[in-house]
Order: sequence, then structure tokens, then C-alpha cells
Amino acid sequence: MLNFILKKVFGTQNARTLKKLQPIVDEVSSLEEQVAALSDEELKAKTQEFRTSLGQGMSIDDILPEAFAVVREVGKRVLNMRHFDVQILGGVVLHQGKIAEMATGEGKTLVATLPVYLNALAGQGVHVVTVNDYLARRDRNWMGPIYEFLGLTVGVIQHDMAPEERQQAYRCDITYGTNNEFGFDYLRDNMVVDISQRVQRSLNYAIVDEVDSILIDEARTPLIISGPAEESTDKYYKLERFVRGLKGRKITDKEIIDAKNQGIDYEKGYDYLVDEKHRNIWFTESGEKKFEGHFSISLEDPRYIDLKHHRDQATKARDLFKVDVDYVVKDGEVIIVDEFTGRLMPGRRFSDGLHQALEAKEGVKIERENQTLATVTFQNYFRMYKKLAGMTGTAETEAIEFEKIYKLDVVVVPTNRKLIRHNYSDVIYKTEREKFNAVVDEIISTHNEGRPVLVGTISIDKSERLSATLRKRGIVHSVLNAKYHEKEAEIISRAGEEGNITISTNMAGRGTDIVLGEGVAARGGLHVVATERHEARRIDNQLRGRSGRQGDPGSSRFFLSLEDELMRIFGGDKLHSLMDRLGMEEGQDIQHPFVTKAIETAQKRVESRNFEIRKHLLEYDDVMNRQREIIYEERRKVLEGENFKEHIFEIIEDCIERLILLYINPDAREEERDEEAFFGYLRKKTLIDFDGLKSKGFSPEDLKDEIVKSLGTSYEAKAEHVGGDLFHFMQKSILLQIIDSKWKEHLHNLDSLREGINLRAYGQRNPLVEYKHEAFDMFDEMIESIKDEVLEFVFKLEMHAKGKMQSVFQPLEQQFVHPDHAPIADLSRRPAERPSSPQQDSFRREGKEERIEPFKRTTRKVGRNEPCPCGSGKKYKKCCGA
Ligand code: ADP
Ligand code: MG
Repeated sequence: MLNFILKKVFGTQNARTLKKLQPIVDEVSSLEEQVAALSDEELKAKTQEFRTSLGQGMSIDDILPEAFAVVREVGKRVLNMRHFDVQILGGVVLHQGKIAEMATGEGKTLVATLPVYLNALAGQGVHVVTVNDYLARRDRNWMGPIYEFLGLTVGVIQHDMAPEERQQAYRCDITYGTNNEFGFDYLRDNMVVDISQRVQRSLNYAIVDEVDSILIDEARTPLIISGPAEESTDKYYKLERFVRGLKGRKITDKEIIDAKNQGIDYEKGYDYLVDEKHRNIWFTESGEKKFEGHFSISLEDPRYIDLKHHRDQATKARDLFKVDVDYVVKDGEVIIVDEFTGRLMPGRRFSDGLHQALEAKEGVKIERENQTLATVTFQNYFRMYKKLAGMTGTAETEAIEFEKIYKLDVVVVPTNRKLIRHNYSDVIYKTEREKFNAVVDEIISTHNEGRPVLVGTISIDKSERLSATLRKRGIVHSVLNAKYHEKEAEIISRAGEEGNITISTNMAGRGTDIVLGEGVAARGGLHVVATERHEARRIDNQLRGRSGRQGDPGSSRFFLSLEDELMRIFGGDKLHSLMDRLGMEEGQDIQHPFVTKAIETAQKRVESRNFEIRKHLLEYDDVMNRQREIIYEERRKVLEGENFKEHIFEIIEDCIERLILLYINPDAREEERDEEAFFGYLRKKTLIDFDGLKSKGFSPEDLKDEIVKSLGTSYEAKAEHVGGDLFHFMQKSILLQIIDSKWKEHLHNLDSLREGINLRAYGQRNPLVEYKHEAFDMFDEMIESIKDEVLEFVFKLEMHAKGKMQSVFQPLEQQFVHPDHAPIADLSRRPAERPSSPQQDSFRREGKEERIEPFKRTTRKVGRNEPCPCGSGKKYKKCCGA
């Protein structure tokens, strides 16, 4: 009932929307004659005219009617297709940043040309997103002539393209490509160390074809670039051994002052000093020398920033962190003890390499797992576009999700011709065997009428079983498994010809039009036989929609059994008892509205469960998304920065402020304040002497200003000494190095936190809330430690030749993973029965046989201990990998 009301409300609302758009369509049509009278040259000149108008302050909406009329005219001339009125309507919907639901065969590929052209005029780039490489290429080649006629450039991204080719494609006015390529390119662009390596421009306007597949089905799992957590864990053990051979001295500030007053060299005979009160250590000259000698390095070389840092951490681990107080060792793992509550914090790791240092100290295995190097969900990727639109035959059932997650309205565009396909009611059998027998009978009887049959299955496995049965009975047919997109597109394009029987999984041959053969329409058109319900009604509708395109005659029927996955898991019991009551015999079916309803209910349950999973994934990603934005923005500033002084000094001021607060907070008690330690620390950090500022009674604010002023002088001197160009390069290099390595570690720690948070069994607390809270703290800590290192290295760095910049990410072997989304078959943990997934779409180059491999660039499996890609937050082995 509610459904009925919703439908009615939606129906009238949709009608209202369409009515409002109608005048625009009429206006486009009214311009037709006038535009048709233009010569080719005059038509081409329109692009420049439009651009001029835009430049003179006309809005893009002002020029829409004429621009659409121009595209329509060009379509006629170069593709021999005139955009139907409903296609113009669809084009307006897309331009307005909404989803146009248009049935299969309505010509959505052509519809997109209207808003694509219009929006590309502004020169900011338009992306057309398809589900696989084959379709990206096909659509680029198919529609390209329209844009090219009008003087726009068109590019296409293909899986195996090199960065330079990608760059070129992205520089075009219009770029076709898959969601995976666009998403991964975005991530990669945020790992480069020079702007010239970036491939994308800004994310301006995207039209997503088959938008439900991409923004809903594939959005169940994030895109992940992963790599080893460490290039090598060797260094931790080596440093631990090195530090063990050193001599440290615990010293208090008072002892330092006393020693100074008496002229005693308190560093003598020691390699490092330990300040327990401030939980700090520093190396003496002798210690530094030993270090350089031991590892045969020079500390002035920026390549050893990292090593030195880990040396300090190893030292801290040794002297400042106590087992069973700060941490415990349990089952070969170092687990943090919360300093306030004494609780164990599994999953939480000390940052900055300290955790690894403790693992080395305790002689336990340093986890060298794979970690996330960069990740984004499709939700968060596509939400970055200034304007987003989509098109598909099946969006309405998911309208709420589109609205909630993407703020995308769905507008149902009427078909060009009336839809006359007949959908027979479902028939249902007790066993799968009986069902398949009936399917085969139906195929044969339809075939005997001279009609083509398209059979849909939910998995490759089932396609093959059905195929075997047909073969046994000597019936010629073709099978598609979504393995070879191009070849399968060709096969499915002939599925409407007389006598053809085509078996296909739901995903196979998507985007290909099925045109009826001669005389087929008179015999009733294409008959679609479906062998099982999919978990989402949408997918069933897609299959049905294969028949009856553009007003063709056609029919469809679903065959089901109580043994089907969906029936078994959701609500098969009632049906069972119903069938028992009816006392059904072997081979007998029922066709009852109750059945259809029960199935629909089951599907709705799975749909909403899947929505929950996606929301859950997104809630976790949203936490990181904000952090990712901050870090990527910071990186962008550094990459594009011309002059870092201001930026670096912002960082330095923050640092100094924090240190002043820490050491000489005027609100603290006298004995808590420690000017001596403060200046000592500053000198260690910057190698600059601030003795002149001591005991002058400065207010904290003035003291900060004085210090910053003096650092400014040193900075300028250094800039002069090193030379502008090189100095700039050095700073950029340091900043990126520091940001990337801290961020990388942070991602690692987030992975680990997310895994561990579910293991914590305290009270009724919501793990997501805990996760947010701690992720926030960890991020803060990370930012502070970035600032701290910047302060240190800007002043300590000596000249080094301008070479190739070291990238934190580059040396790591990277994998690009978009794990298969977990379909319903997972519920029963029978992976062999998973429906083929849309991610199985990577490609080889044209000409070669297009073997499609799963979308895993280096064919890596998800590690058993990694977080499960489904977003549950559990380890893979305890979740989908079980
Ligand atoms: P969809 O993506 O909506 O399923 P396609 O873009 O694949 O549909 O187009 C389906 C078929 O309709 C194609 O063969 C295309 O050539 C044809 N077509 C689309 N628009 C027109 C038109 N305006 N005039 C003639 N044929 C058209
Ligand atoms: Mg299409």
C-alpha cells in the first residue's frame, strides 16, 4: 500500500518535472529549421560563437537551446541520427545534474552528446564514465565525430595507457573512461612528486553511464592502491642493535644547569641524553658520529631523514617505554596500554615508527603486511565533481540512495515509442532441477516458433550448466560470460536474429543494442528467459529490458525454484509450506501473485541490507575522507607552490607556540616551567643558538615573535647561501617526503585501528564513534609531528645536488585493487557461485585477443590479515575471506 502511494507521489512529481522541462524541448525544436539551413562551415562556427557568448557573461543555460539544436543538427549530418524529443529531454536532465532513467535502447549514448558538448564549451573538461574499457572506446569512437565536427577534442582512457597518454586524454575537452581508471588516476595524482606527473585536470562535470552499476553496485567496495607496509623491516632491527650498543645518560634540567654553571661537559662519555620528564632524547656529538660511521652516511644528506628519525624512535623505545606499563607483549604482538585507564588497546599502534621500534626491542615480528597507500570510495570520488549526472535504464528503485548519498534526483524519461513487451508472470518450481527442465522446454518451444531467445543466468557456472544441457539435446546456442567484452558485444548484437539462442550472465554484453532480425518482429520479437531472480530488482529489470526496445514486440518470463539462493535465504519457508499445502507433483509449477510478492519482499530486504553495507563503508570512509582532503590539499599547495616561506613559517610558528606552551607555559606552576630545557630543545632542533633571548622576561607572545624573527633571518641566509632554485627544490622535496611518509604511516595505523576497534569489548560503545574519535586524535598527532619535522629539517639541511626527488610511494610495488563486490552468494559462502562482477573488465590492447582479467592490476589477492574490502572493518580472513 505504502509502495503504491509512493509510486503515485513519485509518478505525479515526475510528471510535473517533465512538464516543466517541456518548454525547453520545444524551444530546441523551434530552432531546428533555422539551424538546418546553416552550411557545415556555419555550423562549425557555432562553437566559437557560444564560447564568445559565455565569455561575455551569458550563462550556460542561456545558450542551451541553441547548443542542443546545433548538436542535433550535427548528429543528423555526421551520424545520420536525429535526437528524438525524449532524447533532448534526457539531455536537459543530464545537464541539470540529475539521473535520467531511460530504458535500454533509447539511445543514451547519443543523449549524452547534448550536455557533454554544452558543458565542454567552458573548457574545464567533461568526463563520460562507462562500465568497461570496451564501451569507453566504442562510445568515444561512435560519438567522437559529433564533437570533432564542432571543433572539440575527445580522448579516451584505456587500462594499459602510460601516464603521458592519459595526460593527453585528460587535456581533451571530453574524456571517456571507466570509473576505475578515473578513480585510480585521481589517487595516483596525489602520490606524485612533481606537477608534471599529474594526469588529471580538475573534476568538473561527469556523466556516468549505467549509473546504478557504478554508483551503487560497484560502490560496495572502495578503490585501493596498496603496497607493502614497509620497504623493509630490517632497519628497525638494525637500529635496535645499534642503539643497544650505545651509552645513554638520564639527565634532568637541573643537572644540566648545574653542570653548565660548573663548566662540566655533561655530554662527555655518553652517546645520547634522556630527558624523562619531557619524554625526549637527544644524541650527543659522539653519538651522532657513531651513527654516521656505523651506517656510513652523512646526516646532512636529506635521504637519511627517515633513518635518523627511526634511530631516535629506537632510542626512545629503549629508554622511555616500559613493558607492562606503557605496553604489553601478548601473543607476539605489542599492545598499547592506555595511560589513563590502563585498558589494552588492540589495533591501536604508536605512530611515527615507534610501534615498530618496540616490536624490534621486544624481538617480536614486525608486521610487514600490505597496507593501504591510497584509497577512495566511489561515493567520495564522484562527489568531488562540481557537477554530476547519470543515466541508466534502472534507477528508480534506488532513487532514495541516489538522493541520500549523491544528492542526485532521478527523472524518468518516457520512451520514444510505446513499450509493448509482454512480461509473463513468474513460474516457480520446488527444485532447481525441475526449473531448469522447464527452462529448456521453454527455450525449445520458443525457438521452434522461429523467435530468438535470450537466456539470463546469475552466474557463469549456471550458464555453463545450462549450456551443457542444451548441447546434449543438440541445440545450437552461444554463451557469454562477461569475459571478452568486445567479442561478446558482437555476439549479443545478433541475439535478436532469427533462430538465435544466447545464454548470458546479467553483466555480459552490457551496453550493446539488440536489433531484431528480419521477420522476427512479426513472430513476436525477442523472448527473454530468466533463470533466477537477482538480489536486486534493478538487475532483473535490466534483463527484461533487453527485449522490447524502441517499441519492438517482445516478451519475458522468470523461472524460479525454492532452491534458489534468494529463496533459500530470504523467506522461502512460507513458500515451502504453501507448495506443500497445494500438494504439488514433480514438474508442476505454481504461478501465484503471492509468490511474486514474496520474492519482491525478499529482494527489497537484500537491497536495503546492501544499502546498509554501503552506508557503513561510507561512514568509515568519511572519517578518512576529511583527512585525505586536508593532506591532498596540503600536497597540492606544496606541488604548486612558488614560494614556501610563508607556508613554512606558518608551520614554524605553530610549532614554536606549542613548544612554548609545553615548556614555559606561564599558567603552569613555577617548577613546571623550564626555560633551559626549552632552549636546549630548540637548539637541538634547529642548530641555532637562542641564548640571547634567555632570561629576558619576554611574554610568551613576544618570545615567540623573537624566535620566529631570528629563524626568519637564518632562513633568508640559508636561501641566499643555497640559491633560490635549489633551495626551493630542497624544501619541496623535504615537505613532500615528510607529508607522504607520515600520511602513509597514518593510513597504516588507520587500517590497523579499524581492524582492532571491533575487538575491543568495552561496554555498549559504538565502534564507529570510537573509531572517529581515535582517528581524529591520531590525525592531530600526525599533523603535529609533520610540523615538528619541518621545523627541524628546514634548518638542518645542507646543500645537496638537485637530483631526482625521492618519492615515498614510488619504490613500493603497488597494486590497484577494486575487490569484487560481495553479492548475495557470499551469504552462503560459496564463492564459486558469485555472479560475474562488473569489475572483471580490464583490457589488453586493440587487435590482440581481449582476454578480460579481474580488475586487479598485479593480480594480487587480499591478504588474510588485511581489512576486509567489504568495509566491515574485520580482517579479511574473519569476514568475506572466511
Ligand atoms: P542505450 O544505451 O540507451 O541502451 P544505445 O545508446 O546503445 O542505447 O542506442 C541504442 C540504439 O539506438 C543504437 O543502435 C543507436 O544507433 C540507436 N539510436 C539512438 N538514438 C537514435 C536516434 N535518434 N535515431 C536513430 N537511431 C538512434
Ligand atoms: Mg548504453
